[in-house]
Amino acid sequence: MNEQHAFAHTIGGRPVPAERWFDVIDPSTGAAFAQAPDASREQLDLAVAAARQAFEQWRLLPQSERVAAMRDFAARVRGQVEGLARLLTLEQGKPLTAAHREVLVTADRIDGMAALEIKPEVLREDVGGRVLLDYQPLGVVGAIAPWNAPLILATQIAAQALAAGNTVIVKPSPFTPLATLRLGEIAAEALPPGVFNVIAGGNALGQCMTEHPGIDKIGFVGSTATGKRVLASAANSTLKRVSLELGGNDPAIVLDDVDVDQVAARLFWSAFMNSGQICMAVKRVFAHESVAERLTAALAQKAQQVKVGGGFEPDVELGPLQNKPQYDKVLAILQDAKERGGRVVTGGGALPRAGYFIAPTVIAGLTEGSRLVDEEQFGPVLPVLTYKTIEEAVQRANATRYGLGASVWAGDVARAHEVARRLEAGTVWINAHGGATADIPFGGFKESGLGRAMGTLGLKSYLEARVIYLPPT
Ligand code: NAD
Repeated sequence: MNEQHAFAHTIGGRPVPAERWFDVIDPSTGAAFAQAPDASREQLDLAVAAARQAFEQWRLLPQSERVAAMRDFAARVRGQVEGLARLLTLEQGKPLTAAHREVLVTADRIDGMAALEIKPEVLREDVGGRVLLDYQPLGVVGAIAPWNAPLILATQIAAQALAAGNTVIVKPSPFTPLATLRLGEIAAEALPPGVFNVIAGGNALGQCMTEHPGIDKIGFVGSTATGKRVLASAANSTLKRVSLELGGNDPAIVLDDVDVDQVAARLFWSAFMNSGQICMAVKRVFAHESVAERLTAALAQKAQQVKVGGGFEPDVELGPLQNKPQYDKVLAILQDAKERGGRVVTGGGALPRAGYFIAPTVIAGLTEGSRLVDEEQFGPVLPVLTYKTIEEAVQRANATRYGLGASVWAGDVARAHEVARRLEAGTVWINAHGGATADIPFGGFKESGLGRAMGTLGLKSYLEARVIYLPPT
């Protein structure tokens, strides 16, 4: 299939054709199936100019009109769910049912952010006068997104920016540009021209955005390594504002009083959904020594039962890794785990078929000092580690440069809450792990990010605070 001429950038509300192209790979075959437009520096400049021009009107629209336009956008996304989901499955690899869900969550993010409002505050009022705090939009926001949940994550950044009165330029990952390019076309039907621009391209285009003097803020979701580059580059150019949602190595601490089968069923999906390619997936299980063996066996049983395959195959539950570099990285991490004494309980390697498939894998017998425990695997390979005391579990769970999510699993919720309060993570769940909605802030401690996305904390990060001193009347 060659869909070369079906995709264009959206700049200023119009399709802008490519001057050059790059291949998009279907991860379930490893073969190119389409080409995406590769934006030039001049096209980035055009997008910045369009977004700057649109900002002057968008910022002044009454809140109710901005909300109505965003709601219309969300409704149109829902109306295109089949086509968007199909594109997502083709380029990302996830099962069609999961792609369908991703499109609906994308629409919910737009609606959810539109529903939030930051009101001005009176900070002081006395004989000396009044001190007011109000908030102003920043201007043009560059939204740079990864490949694991392309639509949700690009939109998450963009919806916050729009709700705050900014305009956006979205750059999807070069691995998964197509559904986001379609999203740009849909946005153009609902929003004023130039409010929501989409340009596709590689890492160099992302870097140009971080350096561009016409962009006021970068909202970035991706790896910690790239996030650091984005921050440095944004600081060196115009000290642009930056929000970073980065990697994780989430621990799940399983206490000694759990119902093992119940926990295993939920824990499995918290770790393996999207083939482990979720920032807030469980990436290390710490099981109390009294339950570790039974839990490992139950997780392995789930892993054996699950149906892995191409996203369009019937009843498929897990798809391939999204791209070749990630597939190679996960296999290298798996090899390292075996060499460091890890016992493969189930899975353990690539599936014998074309595409980037790795069998859902559960590994026991590892400790810190192996890549699978110390790094973010971002794949369907889960280590189950054993601990003796809660003190030890907390200390080891926190012994990472990451701090995105964490969970505690227990029969006694009050005891779990005590443990949760000691975990260094932006979100801690009890008897669950994963999930985010527009009304609740999400983000990371330590090297998992900077700032919070969503909720009023997220919205405020797309605004500049201004204090006004008024004399006494
Ligand atoms: P990545 O950092 O390789 O790429 C992300 C985006 O950055 C892409 O669009 C890429 O083209 C762009 N980019 C690359 N180099 C750049 C540069 N120098 N300047 C500006 N932009 C640049 O990440 P990825 O591999 O696409 O995504 C996987 C990572 O994303 C994982 O670490 C995962 O945990 C993380 N992630 C985090 C969250 C969260 O909310 N915290 C959510 C999803 C994914």
